[in-house]
Amino acid sequence: MGEFSDKVVVVTGGAKGIGQAICEAFAGEGARVVCADVDEKAGEKLAAQELAVSSGGSGEIRFVRADVSTSPGCEAAVGAAVSTYGGVDVLCNNVGIQPTDSYLPAHELPEESWDRIIAVNLKSYFLMTRLCIPEMKKRGGGVIINTASVQGLQSAKGVSAYAASKGGILSLTRQLALEYAEDGIRVLAVNPGTIDTPMVEEALDAIGGDQEEMRKGMAAVHPMGRVGQPAEIAHAVLFLASDRASFMTGESVCVDGGIMAKGAWA
Ligand code: NAD
Repeated sequence: MGEFSDKVVVVTGGAKGIGQAICEAFAGEGARVVCADVDEKAGEKLAAQELAVSSGGSGEIRFVRADVSTSPGCEAAVGAAVSTYGGVDVLCNNVGIQPTDSYLPAHELPEESWDRIIAVNLKSYFLMTRLCIPEMKKRGGGVIINTASVQGLQSAKGVSAYAASKGGILSLTRQLALEYAEDGIRVLAVNPGTIDTPMVEEALDAIGGDQEEMRKGMAAVHPMGRVGQPAEIAHAVLFLASDRASFMTGESVCVDGGIMAKGAWA
């Protein structure tokens, strides 16, 4: 039996990067995973792949094409979990965007960019939660894990909407933890440092210049001297979602190679 055998897990932004690693890790522990994403090609590929199943679990990944910044998108994702697998035990609100053309001082950021980033990065977490809570209550409990960021704790120039969305996720995490503690629903967040994903690749491409030097610089920001891998976030997410974290709620955990231990980024 895998650690999450018979559990139903919904992951937003699950087709690539950190979300993909989360889907694979849960499925590897026997879970039935619904991956909700706008990238149909990557999502179908993930759902079709042979899973490296550990602990004898027999998990699976089902892809649902869904823009989770909208209510119909969230309804499609949660509806698939309920109709196919009978409910929801774990919700991983993981989706996030940081469009390369949004790296601007706040007064130059177009209103549409602000709205899009907040809709995908923050509103979707609320919309997905709203739909999953009744399902979790029916099952007597559940776990919500939100992917925030070290940028929700400290920030950098040029990322006003992104940083606000991540700070909002941390605040929402605490609020939801209080609201649903009595229902047996735990709510937690992870704060990744820089992780080697398509999001970071796109940012590097957009900046241009000497990629090798930029990668070295990115690695050097982390006291451990390297960026993280998506699976390293997934390991933390699985721990937080497991019964081993049964007395944890309303908290966020940094998985950042030591960045936050520096106390300030400067
Ligand atoms: P990514 O861009 O590599 O993957 C994000 C996934 O979300 C993609 O598959 C994309 O298709 C999907 N997606 C985008 N908009 C969507 C929408 N509206 N509806 C459904 N799916 C959508 O990103 P990542 O680096 O894996 O980031 C995952 C999470 O981790 C995000 O919340 C991000 O902010 C956070 N994070 C990432 C890093 C990092 O360095 N990579 C650091 C801190 C926090």
